[in-house]
Amino acid sequence: MASPELSIIIPVLNEGANIEPLCDRVTPVLDRASSNWEIVFVDDGSSDDTLARIRARNQRDPRIGAVSLSRNFGKEIALAAGLDHAQGRAVVIMDADLQHPPEMIETFVQYWREGYVMVYGQRTDRTDETRLKRNFARLFYRLFQQFGEVPLPEGAGDFRLIDRRGVEVLRTLGERARFSKGLYAWIGFKSIGVPFVIEDRQHGATKWSFRKLFRFAFDGITSFSTVPLRVWTYLGLLISVASIATALYFLLRTLLFGTDLPGFPSLIVSVMFFSGVQLMSLGIIGEYVGRIFAEVKRRPLYVVAERVGHADEAGDMLARNSRSVRRA
Ligand code: UDP
Ligand code: MG
Repeated sequence: MASPELSIIIPVLNEGANIEPLCDRVTPVLDRASSNWEIVFVDDGSSDDTLARIRARNQRDPRIGAVSLSRNFGKEIALAAGLDHAQGRAVVIMDADLQHPPEMIETFVQYWREGYVMVYGQRTDRTDETRLKRNFARLFYRLFQQFGEVPLPEGAGDFRLIDRRGVEVLRTLGERARFSKGLYAWIGFKSIGVPFVIEDRQHGATKWSFRKLFRFAFDGITSFSTVPLRVWTYLGLLISVASIATALYFLLRTLLFGTDLPGFPSLIVSVMFFSGVQLMSLGIIGEYVGRIFAEVKRRPLYVVAERVGHADEAGDMLARNSRSVRRA
C-alpha cells in the first residue's frame, strides 16, 4: 500500500464499546476527505476487549490498524507513539469517545490543502465539565499565558490536524513530561483554529481524575516555564528587606522606650511562616530536579508490545523507535 495521505491517530484506553461506533462514523468522513487514509489506534495498555475489537475491524478493513503499548503510558505518550507510527502526509489526532465530532476532519483537511500546517479544533464551551474543573482550567490558562514560554490558544486541545512537517518536528522533541498542547504551540508554523462544540462521551467514563488533571497542569507549567523556580529569589529578597526593616524598628523602639519582652506569638507565627515558605521553595526545586532526573535517564518514551495491521512496516517501526530514542 502506498503511503497514505491522511492518518488518524486515536489513543485508546479501555474503549472497547467505542471502537465500532467510532469506526462506523469516522470511515465515511475519511472516504470523503481523502482517497488514501489510515487509522492508527494506539492501545495504551487496555485491559478490556479494545484490541480484540480493533483486530476484528482490521480483518474487514486493513486501513484500520493499531500499535499496542506494553502497558498504560498515559495519553500524552500514546500520542507520541501515534506520531511515530503514522505514515500520512497529514495527521489528525482525535479521542475515541466521539467527543470530537469526526465531521470536522473534512474542514481540517480543507484548511490543510490551503496550506495550513496546523489546524486545531477550538471548543467553544466547557459546560459539560464541573464548575471546579472549569475554574481550574481557566486559572491554568491564565497562569500559562502569564508565565509560559509560548501563548496557548484557549480551548484548543488534542483534536487537530498536523502536516508532516509539523509531525517531524514534534517527533524530535523527546521530552518525557509531555505537555502536547504546549509542544504544538512551541513548534509554531501557520496555524488556524476551527471552533467546534464538544459532544458527550458515548460509552465508558473519562479517564481523567482531578488529581491526574492537576498533575498534568503542573507538568504543563514546569515544562514551559522556570518562573516557579525563580520566584523564590524575589520572594526571599522581599522577605530579607522586610526583616531588616523590622530589625531597625525594634532597635529604635528598644533604644527609645526600653524593652518589655512581648511577642512570643508573633515569633512562633513568623517561624512557622518562614519554614513553610522554605519548604515550599525546596519542594518546587524538587519538582524540577525530579523532572531533570526523569529526562537524563533517557529511557525510551514507550514500549510497543504488538502491532495490528501494516505488518510489513514492523521492522521499520523498531528502527524509528530507537532512532527517536537516540535523538531524544
Ligand atoms: N486515553 C489514553 N490513555 C490514558 C487516558 C486516556 O489513551 O491514560 C485516551 C482515551 O481512551 C480517550 C482519550 O485518551 O480516547 C481521551 O480520554 P478521556 O475521554 O478519558 O478524556 P477527557 O475527554 O475526559 O478529557
Ligand atoms: Mg473524552
